[in-house]
Amino acid sequence: MISCLQEDKVRLQEELNTTESKQQGLGSTPQSQGTTDLEKHLEILVLENDRLKQELNGSQLRFQQFRASLPTCTDCEHSKENSRLREQMTVLQLELEEKTRQLSELEQHLKDVLQDRAEREERLNKRIRDCHLALAKQSTPGVKYMTKKMEVESSRMKQDLEEAQSRNHYLQEQIGIQRQLLTEQEQQLQDSWRASAQLQAQIMMYEAELEQAQGEMLTALQKMEDEKNQAIEEVFQHARSEMKIVHDNLNGVRMNLLSIQPALKTLTSDYNCLKNHVRDFPCLLQDAVSQTKKEIYQAVEEAKEINQDLLRKYKREMQLRKKCHNELVRLRGNIRVLCRVRPITREDGAGPDNRNVVSFDQDDDAVLYVSHRGKTSMFELDKVFQPYALQADIFREVQALITSCIDGYNVCIFAYGQTGSGKTYTMEGLPEDPGINQRALQHLFGEVAERSTDWDLTITVSMAEIYNETLRNLLAKDPSEKLEIKLSPDGSGQLYVPGLIQIRVQSVDDINKVFELGRVNRATDFTNVNERSSRSHALLIVSVTGINLTSGVRTTGKLNLVDLAGSERVGKSGAEGPRLREAQNINKSLLALGDVICALRSKQPYIPFRNSKLTYLLQDSLSGDSKTLMMVQVSPMEKNVNETICSLKFAQRVRSVELGAAGRRVENQHCSSRQECELESSLSAAQQGRHNSYPGGNIVGKSTAGKRRLVASSELNH
Ligand code: ADP
Ligand code: MG
Repeated sequence: MISCLQEDKVRLQEELNTTESKQQGLGSTPQSQGTTDLEKHLEILVLENDRLKQELNGSQLRFQQFRASLPTCTDCEHSKENSRLREQMTVLQLELEEKTRQLSELEQHLKDVLQDRAEREERLNKRIRDCHLALAKQSTPGVKYMTKKMEVESSRMKQDLEEAQSRNHYLQEQIGIQRQLLTEQEQQLQDSWRASAQLQAQIMMYEAELEQAQGEMLTALQKMEDEKNQAIEEVFQHARSEMKIVHDNLNGVRMNLLSIQPALKTLTSDYNCLKNHVRDFPCLLQDAVSQTKKEIYQAVEEAKEINQDLLRKYKREMQLRKKCHNELVRLRGNIRVLCRVRPITREDGAGPDNRNVVSFDQDDDAVLYVSHRGKTSMFELDKVFQPYALQADIFREVQALITSCIDGYNVCIFAYGQTGSGKTYTMEGLPEDPGINQRALQHLFGEVAERSTDWDLTITVSMAEIYNETLRNLLAKDPSEKLEIKLSPDGSGQLYVPGLIQIRVQSVDDINKVFELGRVNRATDFTNVNERSSRSHALLIVSVTGINLTSGVRTTGKLNLVDLAGSERVGKSGAEGPRLREAQNINKSLLALGDVICALRSKQPYIPFRNSKLTYLLQDSLSGDSKTLMMVQVSPMEKNVNETICSLKFAQRVRSVELGAAGRRVENQHCSSRQECELESSLSAAQQGRHNSYPGGNIVGKSTAGKRRLVASSELNH
C-alpha cells in the first residue's frame, strides 16, 4: 500500500516536472527568471517604438518650424505633397497607438495567467508536502484513508493538469498570433520609418532651397543696401547744394521782406477795405438779383404779350390764307377741265399716221388746235399742257385742290382719254418721275408736318378697281372678291363700302408699298396689265382726317384719284362677246360720269349718281362743296385724231356746263367734223330741256373770241 502511494507520489512528481519542463520549453519560466523571451522581445519592441515616437515627434517639430519659416504658398507642389505626407503620418500614428494599446493589454493578460499558474503550483507543492507527511506517519487506517484520498485527489490533480495543459496550448496559440501581429506592427513601423525618412529628406531639400533663397535674398538685400547708401549719398549731396541755394534765396527774401513791409501795410489796409466791400456784397447782390428778376419777368410778360399778338395775327393770316385759297379754287370753278397732250415717243414710230395734228396758241395756254381733213378746230379749256410739260408742272396746277382736301373738302381728279394717251403716266408716272398720285401724298405729308402744332392729321389710302361694273378691293388678300356700295346704317345718307381696306401711310416708303400691292393685285386676272388697265377704272382713295388740337374740331377730306378706262369707241368696231360687254360698261360709266357732272353743275334737282358704279361710289366726292378736276389726255398723232377730238369735245362740254353755272362766259360750239361721239350725244341728252338746241358749228379759235357766243348760265338753262 505504502509502496503504491509512493509510486503515485513519484508519478505525480514526474508529471509535475514534465509540466514544468514543458513550460520552460515554451519560454514561460515562472517568477524565478521574471521575463520570458516574449517579454524581452516585447520590451525591445516597446523601446524601439518609444524611440521611433521620439524621432517622429522631433521630425514633426522640425517640420513645423520649417513650415512656419517657409513663405506661404498654398497652391505649390511642395505644399500639396507636404499635406499628403502629413495625413499619412497621422494615419500611421493612429495605427501605432492602437498597436501599442493592444500590446499592453496582451502583457497584462500574460501577467495574470502567470500569476494564476504560480498559485496552482504553490497549492500542488503544498499537497505533495502533506502526502509526504502522511506517508511518514504510516498509520494503517490513516494510510488507507490517505491512500484513498490520494487516489481521489490524484485524479483531480490530473484533471487540473490537463486543464493547465490545454490552457498552455491556448496561450501558445495566442502568443503565436501576438507574434504575427508584432511582425505586422514592425512592418508598419518600418513603413512609417521610411515615410519619416522621406519626409526628412524632403525637409532637408526644402531647407536647402530655403537656404539658397535666403542666400539670394541676402545678396539682393546687400545690393539694395549698397544702392540705397549710394542714393542717400547722392541725395545728401544734392540736398546740401540745394540748401545752399535756399540759404542764398532766404537771404535775398529777407532783404526783400524788409523792403516789402511798407507795401504790405498798404495791402493790409486795402484788404480790410475789400473785406468791408465783400461783407456788403451779398446785400448788393440780392438787390441786383431781385431787380434783374423783375426786369426779366417784365420782359417775359412783354414777350408773352407780343407772342400772343403774333399768334393772333398768325391765326388771322392762316384763316385769310385759307379763305384766299378757297376763293382761288372757287374762282377757278368747282370743276376744272385741263388738257395734257402727250409727246410723240420713239415707240410710236415714224409712219405718215404719226404726224402731229395738234398745235397751240403762243399767247393763250387755255387753247389748242386740232387739224383734221384740212380744217383746224379750236378747243378752249381751263388750261392746256403742251407735250414738254413736266410732271411737276402738272402737279403745281392741282396742288391747291389737294391742299383743300386737308381743309375737309372732297376732291376728285379724273384722268380721261383714249388708251395710250397718257392717263396712267399722268396719274402714276414712272418710279423716277412719279405722277399726281405719289406727289399728292407727298404734298399731304408735308402739309401734315407743317400743321402738326395745331392739327393731328391721319392719312389713309384705299385702292379699288371698277371692271365691268364690279368693284374690287385692290389691297385685299383676295382681290377677286366683289365689293358692294351701301348706304350707311346711321341714317346720315353717306355711302360706305364694307370690306374696302384702308391703310395708314406716313412715308413715301409706305405709299410705294401700297401702290405695289395694288399693282400686283390688279395684274392677277389679266395676262396683259395694260390691256386690263385700259378697260377698268383705277381709284386711289386718300382720306385725311384731322382733329384741331386747340378747338377739338374734326375734319374729314377725301381725295379720289381716278385713272379712267380708255374712252375709245370700241363698240363701233364691231366687237362681240365679253369685249363688247366691257366696251358697253366703259361707255356706260363714262357717260354716267358726264351726266352727273352736267347735272351737278347745272344744279339739277336730280343727279343720276346711280347710273354707274363709278358715280355711285364717288357720289359724296362729287356733290356738295366738292371740287373736281378732269385731266383730259390726248395723243397728238394723226392716227388718233378722231378720239382726240371726241375727248376734247367731252371736256369742253363738261367745262361749258360748269362755266355756265358759275356765271362765266361759255362758248357754244358744234362738231365741225360731225363725229358721232357717243359721249357727245349722251351729254347733249343730259342737257336736254336746258338748252335744247346745242347747235353745231365750226369751232372758233381764240383770235375769234369776240365772235363766240357767250351765254350766261341762265341762258343755258332755257
Ligand atoms: P394710258 O394710261 O392712257 O393708256 P399711258 O399712260 O400708258 O397711257 O401712256 C402710253 C405711253 O405713252 C407710255 O409708254 C407712256 O410712258 C407714254 N407717255 C404718256 N404721256 C407721256 C408724257 N407726258 N411724257 C412722256 N411719255 C409719255
Ligand atoms: Mg393706263
